[in-house]
Amino acid sequence: MTNTGTYKQLVFTEKDKCRVCYTCVRECPVKAIKIIDGQAEVIHERCIACGNCVKVCSQGAKVFLSTTEAVLELLNSGNQVAAIIAPSFPAEFSDLDDYRVLVGMLRSLGFDFVNEVAFGADLVAQEYKKLLQNNGQSFISSDCPAIVNYIRHYHPGLVKNLTPLASPMVATTRVLKKKYGEQVKVVFIGPCIAKKAESSEVDLSLTFKELRAMFEAKQITPGSVDSSNFDPPHAGKGSIFPISRGLLQNMGINEDITEGNVIVAAGRSNFRDAVNEFENNHLYSKHLELLCCDGCVMGPGMSNGGKKYARRALISEFAKQKIENLDEVQWKKDLETYADLDLIQSFEAVDRRVDDPDEEQIWEVLKSMGKQGPTDFLNCGACGYDTCREHAVAIIQGLAESEMCLPLTIERLHNSIDKLNLSSQELANAKLALKQSEKLAHMGQLSAGIAHELNNPLGVITMYSNILKDESKDGDPIREDLELIVEQADRCKKIVGGLLNFARQKQVNYQQTDIVEFVRHSTESIINEKGIRIDFEEKIDDRVVFIDQDQMMQVLTNLEKNAVEAMNNGGTLSIRIEGDEEDVRISFSDTGTGISPENMEKIFTPFFTTKQIGKGTGLGLPLVYGIVKMHKGKIDVQSNTDPEKGPTGTTFAIKLPRNKQEDQMAV
Ligand code: SF4
Ligand code: SF4
Repeated sequence: MTNTGTYKQLVFTEKDKCRVCYTCVRECPVKAIKIIDGQAEVIHERCIACGNCVKVCSQGAKVFLSTTEAVLELLNSGNQVAAIIAPSFPAEFSDLDDYRVLVGMLRSLGFDFVNEVAFGADLVAQEYKKLLQNNGQSFISSDCPAIVNYIRHYHPGLVKNLTPLASPMVATTRVLKKKYGEQVKVVFIGPCIAKKAESSEVDLSLTFKELRAMFEAKQITPGSVDSSNFDPPHAGKGSIFPISRGLLQNMGINEDITEGNVIVAAGRSNFRDAVNEFENNHLYSKHLELLCCDGCVMGPGMSNGGKKYARRALISEFAKQKIENLDEVQWKKDLETYADLDLIQSFEAVDRRVDDPDEEQIWEVLKSMGKQGPTDFLNCGACGYDTCREHAVAIIQGLAESEMCLPLTIERLHNSIDKLNLSSQELANAKLALKQSEKLAHMGQLSAGIAHELNNPLGVITMYSNILKDESKDGDPIREDLELIVEQADRCKKIVGGLLNFARQKQVNYQQTDIVEFVRHSTESIINEKGIRIDFEEKIDDRVVFIDQDQMMQVLTNLEKNAVEAMNNGGTLSIRIEGDEEDVRISFSDTGTGISPENMEKIFTPFFTTKQIGKGTGLGLPLVYGIVKMHKGKIDVQSNTDPEKGPTGTTFAIKLPRNKQEDQMAV
């Protein structure tokens, strides 16, 4: 009979429980797990139902198909139902004093017959032995359904090497069908998930975990049932079957590779290595006994918590007692009875391999992950793949994502943090600038009000004091007082003029301007009595910019005047003009004593001045700031007062957008 099994998905991810730790990806022997929407999803077509992922997921996010409801329905259907229990049961039900209690509990659940799969193992072991002794071909044992799936899907060329024998589970089912008739329904109970889809001959399959849950739901306890023995035929050495090498021990075959012809490999890496070596003719043995788990006693359907060697010891102990108490005559008679049973099984290849990508593609992906050469291959396994190269192959095959690379993700996170820090700094600067603008706007309103009110009376004072001064005679004692009044009234006028200027910056009248010419021209009005050197440098191809020339002239002359005034003992004023397609940048650097850090924060605040009383109004820099902002530009100041840190002095740098006609917009 050809065993195609039943094609149904057995392993699932419980949504939202997955923490994307990649542990299951790492443990999956066939890489059948893909990260989709932040969850490690099982790809049904690739899965061999080994259950490794279920065992390793600490979050309980990987679950297997439950058949408890279906079994309950079957038990209530009126059909005769037989439970066939895997020989690993002593490792699971070590809490029961006697196996007969378990049999009683199964009968209490509603099973009509309770049989041992170990008898099927006895039958199969005999056939294995004959096959190995009489056949020149090399074989791979076919009793582990996950291994059979692995060979059928990933090494289809080796399907011909699968032992053409039914598994103990199927053999036991055939025994029961022969004994009770084809109508009897069979439920397998064991430690394995893959058994749920191994064969259509078996009606349903439960794991030990599910069986325990059913006992609990039905409140069936050891104390509530009568003990009972298994139904015949009873098993002999088949009880040893679930531990690795169990099949060999059952057959009485030596597995030593130097003397015998058998190699045993159990567990995710070992069985894959063994199959690869077998396929590449590196093994000279005739037979591979493979188990996907570390023996069936470590299957994913066992309850958690048991230790491997303790479980093996429980199986050995049970098998020992079984053999000691075995009615050998009856056992042999039973073997005879079923000797003519057809245990032949054939398997079909279903190739699910994905083509390997070419080298060029692999390198492209590796480079996109920052891996330029072998020295960049950390092969840390954090992504779930053993090597960076395997990870790259999986990405190309659509099974993985580059984000699974932990070092790469950490590096990206660092970059994001840097960008965030930068954005946060920019945000802080913008907030500061906004605060400053608001302050200036309020000051502007206040200034405008005061200036308008003062301007007229001041005009009258200036006019009449000048008339009186002109009318006074030389030597008149009042003349000196009148001169003082005129002087102070002029000063007041300047302040009011400054206030009006400051308050007037409401709109920009853009004019096309040659910025180099314009800046050069601005320096002509500087009174340079101290013989300060002006160092002029331009690095700009396109000199055209749109600015409000009147306003911008105030900016430049204010900054130049401040720079000159900051250099009492002479020095150099360096003016630089640079530009690109978007902006022009003009900087004014003096070699003065610099602005102290505590004053730096206040320099754009109206009426703040460090000049002597009577020398400055404290409105120049706020005016500069307001005009630059009106041009949608930026102004920065850097200053050093500490000669130990480098040359002292201050640099004001203005950045102005070119404000081409299409970009001009009144603010
Ligand atoms: S083991 Fe797999 S299913 Fe479980 S949390 Fe980790 S990635 Fe998710
Ligand atoms: S059951 Fe096995 S093959 Fe399937 S996804 Fe889980 S680890 Fe992979």
